[in-house]
Amino acid sequence: MRTTKYGVGVRKRLDEVYKSETKRYKCPRCKKVSLSRQASGIWECSACRLRMADYAYKVSVSSLS
Ligand SMILES: [Zn+2]
Repeated sequence: MRTTKYGVGVRKRLDEVYKSETKRYKCPRCKKVSLSRQASGIWECSACRLRMADYAYKVSVSSLS
């Protein structure tokens, strides 16, 4: 398989998106780092099942305290 400049750039960008989607955040209710993205703008805590809507790639936890 040939690697082109264009292909490398796309793969790098996809990798960044993937990382931001799988990153876990601190849950504002149980304080465990179990908050993960379920869908665009939907976050769920795997510890206490808290569900919340927020920005697609970032959780503004500080505003919920
Ligand atoms: Zn929780």
